[in-house]
Amino acid sequence: MELYRLTIHEAQALLQRKEVSSQELTQALLARIKSLDGKINAYLTVCDEPALAEARQADEARARGDDPGILAGIPLAIKDVLCTKGVRTSCASKMLENFFPPYDATCIDALKRAGYVLLGKTNMDEFAMGSSTENSHFRATKNPWGIDRVPGGSSGGSAAAVAAGMCLGSLGSDTGGSIRQPASFCGVVGLKPTYGRVSRYGLVAFASSLDQVGPVTKDVTDCALLLKYISGHDLKDSTSAEVPVADYPALLSDEIKGLKLGLPKEYFAQGLDKQVKEAIEAAARQLSQLGANIEEVSLPHTEYAIPTYYLIATAEASSNLARYDGVKYGYRAKGYTDLLSMYGKTRAEGFGSEVKRRIMLGTYALSAGYYDAYYGKAQQVRTLIKRDFDHALKQCDLLITPTSPTTAFKLGEKIADPLTMYLSDIYTISVNLAGLPALSLPCGFDSEGLPIGLQIIGRPFEEETILKTAYAYEQATEWHERRPNLE
Ligand code: GLN
Repeated sequence: MELYRLTIHEAQALLQRKEVSSQELTQALLARIKSLDGKINAYLTVCDEPALAEARQADEARARGDDPGILAGIPLAIKDVLCTKGVRTSCASKMLENFFPPYDATCIDALKRAGYVLLGKTNMDEFAMGSSTENSHFRATKNPWGIDRVPGGSSGGSAAAVAAGMCLGSLGSDTGGSIRQPASFCGVVGLKPTYGRVSRYGLVAFASSLDQVGPVTKDVTDCALLLKYISGHDLKDSTSAEVPVADYPALLSDEIKGLKLGLPKEYFAQGLDKQVKEAIEAAARQLSQLGANIEEVSLPHTEYAIPTYYLIATAEASSNLARYDGVKYGYRAKGYTDLLSMYGKTRAEGFGSEVKRRIMLGTYALSAGYYDAYYGKAQQVRTLIKRDFDHALKQCDLLITPTSPTTAFKLGEKIADPLTMYLSDIYTISVNLAGLPALSLPCGFDSEGLPIGLQIIGRPFEEETILKTAYAYEQATEWHERRPNLE
């Protein structure tokens, strides 16, 4: 048995029956990382020794008959945007190249209490700004399905690590599509929870009104499992919601008869790749055979989503990233003459060009005299976009769309043209603006063998309906069982 192929729930069962130990599992994954990651670059940090020590603890607890926790000995990879106590958290930026957080993010704390093993920290676009993981200060991650392709971004390292069998599952973050688009490009499952479902404490902030943490996994069951442990109210994040957490894995069933699924007509217009379109239509037919009712809906303000997002996200980013000034922590430039030149030099040297572009755009959008015309206007349009979804989700239980207009593009193909890059998030961004939950799961492959993702969008805090529908689809298809050939 190749242990790296296991899902989390399969590994749990084997660990409980003592057919495999946490140490064997962790060793198998570390060996896989060693043999493959030179080619994929999914990891920025691999925690060899500490991971084995955590695995040993889980095995010992189990041998003593103690309850070691539900995720005991399960090796997971964490996007390098989530604070892990004592383990470097760089956000793939030179600015935080030597930052070792003195505390854990709340979601990491929850995984620790459940007994997980931290395998390592995954690559990403710097400060989560990008759609290809090419904006990493360190190196670009490659797509396991095609080594000349991007894995998507910004959680590209997480999605590539899951797809290549270099971890059993992962956590990413999603501000405008950063979990769902890489999940789609790498043929795995990714969920952005409702805004407020998961605490953002210890998630390095990009755009605070949009950011959410969520799972990246091999299948829907694993997604439900991780969601359960990271969700819930947190006194340390005032935007986390006091809404009870459902037992997501227990609620999975393939019974979706009578559910109403809407296809937003604006998502099937110009710019959508023909093969992606056909795969989504085939998935809709399949869901209808499973008993769902499909109808067309409209989200009329869709065309304003990208400009609205790039005003709000950059405005928030310009404010959030003001803290990196060389004083408190992070990079500090050498050779400055006074305080102002220290600030200037530190930020000029510490940030990459995409991050600087966003800070400049955001500062401009917030500046006196332009605030009403840009940021204020964007907030108004955000309300209109949200109302479109409120309306469509009154008519239907869920919406079904492509996750991305194309499959994984080539490394270098869009990096010189930010606007083209921004357009790759056209189907994911509105969901963040509206604060809704949405999941991407594999629904086919194009003629070059690259995965296609189906996006399922739900009502606020109704993640269970999304998961149930995704599960029913997964049970009826075999896309999620395919793995890239990396030998
Ligand atoms: N690709 C989008 C951006 O560049 C979304 C990123 C994200 O979700 N973190 O902003």
